[in-house]
Amino acid sequence: MTIATSFTAAPVMEVFASIQGEGAYLGEPQVFLRLRGCPLRCTWCDTPASWELPAEPTARLVTAEGPARRDSWATPFQAACWLRECEPGVERTISVTGGEPLAWPGFLLALRGMVGERRMHLETGGAHPETLAKVLGAFDHVSLDLKLPEDLDPSVELEARGLPEDARPTSERAPTDADGWTYARRRLLALLVEHDACAKIVVRGGRGFRDYDPLLEDLARLAPRMPLFLQPVTPMRGVPAPDQDLLLDLVEAARELELAVRVTPQVHRLLRLP
Ligand code: SF4
Repeated sequence: MTIATSFTAAPVMEVFASIQGEGAYLGEPQVFLRLRGCPLRCTWCDTPASWELPAEPTARLVTAEGPARRDSWATPFQAACWLRECEPGVERTISVTGGEPLAWPGFLLALRGMVGERRMHLETGGAHPETLAKVLGAFDHVSLDLKLPEDLDPSVELEARGLPEDARPTSERAPTDADGWTYARRRLLALLVEHDACAKIVVRGGRGFRDYDPLLEDLARLAPRMPLFLQPVTPMRGVPAPDQDLLLDLVEAARELELAVRVTPQVHRLLRLP
């Protein structure tokens, strides 16, 4: 499979400094670069405004002088400048999030060159293994979502028509069925087994703990030392939070497989941080 990774611009949705609310670096002050565009439709997504590319998108920057709006399409150099503009004090770890950042591989690779030696983390929905293989070296840490296909509405690929000339989204399509998700999950875990990475499962109500067996078993088999974070969903749009029994049963199922499992809420939401 050929993946387009040429030097390119990407649509920035927002840049802001905050506290990491999820995963292995939970609680760390970071500066966030959120990119627009995501083909997935997680039923519990808390950033649906990041899915599509509006006709004239703007980026929201939270700078020392207050919020500002800029043209969303940014080169890696522009994005690196915005990151410095938005982080108070000394440099923070950069968290590249979305949307799905892997939609823009050429931008990610070039951004690495613009930010020097500082730490750069990636948050990915886990649908683009071939693209991750291309850009993995640019990141010091990867937070990988493991998803149940039944938690997803049908995906909607980004429409390449109408994008600026220097915007080249990945040519890799998101999985469309359970077999495709199994392949993507296994390939991603195999890629990340020797990398600084963590796995995250968002847990919603209405599921049985055995539903998660394929995810846990793949993790135990392919990346047994990767920390696993179970994150109860923040109830929204009719998606219920999991009950206590589901979470506790899931923890036991993970422990039986000798996984390093932790249950953490979305801390930035609890603290009402951006
Ligand atoms: S991958 Fe992330 S941005 Fe995309 S739909 Fe799922 S939660 Fe939302």
